Amino acid sequence: MQQSPHTYEGSVVATIPSRTVICAEGFEGGERPAVTPPRSGLTGCPWRDVKSMLRDVGLRPTRQRMALGWMLFGKGDRHVTAEILYEEATKAKVPVSLATVYNTLHQFTDVGLLRQVAVDGSKTYFDTNVSQHHHFFVEGENDLLDIPDADVVVGRTPVPPEGYEVARIDVVVRLRRKAR
Ligand SMILES: [Zn+2]
Repeated sequence: MQQSPHTYEGSVVATIPSRTVICAEGFEGGERPAVTPPRSGLTGCPWRDVKSMLRDVGLRPTRQRMALGWMLFGKGDRHVTAEILYEEATKAKVPVSLATVYNTLHQFTDVGLLRQVAVDGSKTYFDTNVSQHHHFFVEGENDLLDIPDADVVVGRTPVPPEGYEVARIDVVVRLRRKAR
């Protein structure tokens, strides 16, 4: 299929805000459009970025990975569950199964494109922001929000047992609405 990449699965394109779909050739290496803060080294074009992002981590940019990658990374940082992404894909008429969405999310996580945030035994979120940060989880509303300042939650890192090092600290601060 050698057509313009932006016409891929026409219905996918329709779900992306138009400002992020416009990827003029001049953006590469040049001035970057003022969209969400792009990852370093990216062109500001979600489609092209997703493709190179996948190639950089050794994943073949298949249609399904591209479509899901675009939904994940084309709109700035987000937290999704497999179910949320599956629902979006279905609405955008991207032909994928829930199992494929699930597998793709795990593949992306394995190569470091996503970070997994386990909120409880049954709910796993995938975070497109892989930098060190913590989360608020709004109980009952199933909403995961970033706590921007990593130092707010953990002021001092505990000393790990002999022979170990701290790989990462994940804090989920659970919120509930105040009783009136
Ligand atoms: Zn996050």
